[in-house]
Amino acid sequence: MPDTTARSSHTGETGVTSVGGALARVRARIAAAASTAGRDPAAVTLVAVSKFHPREAVAAAIAAGQSVFGENRVQEAGTKFADRPPGVRLHLIGALQTNKARDAVRLADVIETLDRPRLADAIAEAAEREGRLPDLLVQVNVGDETQKAGIPRADADRFVRDVRARFGARLRGLMCIPPAEADPAPHFRYLAELAAAHGLPVLSMGMSGDLEAAIAAGSTEVRVGTAIFGAR
Ligand SMILES: *Cc1c(COP(=O)(O)O)cnc(C)c1O
Repeated sequence: MPDTTARSSHTGETGVTSVGGALARVRARIAAAASTAGRDPAAVTLVAVSKFHPREAVAAAIAAGQSVFGENRVQEAGTKFADRPPGVRLHLIGALQTNKARDAVRLADVIETLDRPRLADAIAEAAEREGRLPDLLVQVNVGDETQKAGIPRADADRFVRDVRARFGARLRGLMCIPPAEADPAPHFRYLAELAAAHGLPVLSMGMSGDLEAAIAAGSTEVRVGTAIFGAR
């Protein structure tokens, strides 16, 4: 009977009621943080990060009114979102290999992790073949961590200019994941200043644990997984 046990506990975690309640609590956190910062809560988009959670969890979130989702892996995103209903938007937020660029361009509404010239080449080529180009964010490695994806700080200015020159207004903004153990606030402020310097409207920053600090620094898009869907 281990199958049954696993299934019923899973349903408990991802059922409509629990996901709906968790979504309401996250939306309330966003509203409170925006209000504290003197910002309009409607200026902050909630991206529900459903990676490793099943289609049923996504369906429960959609039923609760959620329309924007984030996934890390192109293949997993395809199995869960290729046939998404109109109005449901998919952001790809994981490190992207160049050999997955074509699938990513076909599938995504937004690719948040453009972080190197070779990937820009691959996306441009894929866009030409597919006849579509998603919105793009440049991911910045704000902590300059060796193991982490993102363009290093020192190269960010130049890379953003190159991406803008190549993709024009499809470049919407910047994304970051600050170092796990550090105070994220200075990293969020740095990203906000960089976006402002380039006149970019979108700032994807803030997750389950630090969305308040991100909204205080000007985030327009928080990517929240655990606080909505539970532990992975
Ligand atoms: C998994 C993930 C998130 C969500 O993180 P939580 O702490 O579960 O909210 C946000 N952004 C990226 C890039 C992720 O990989």
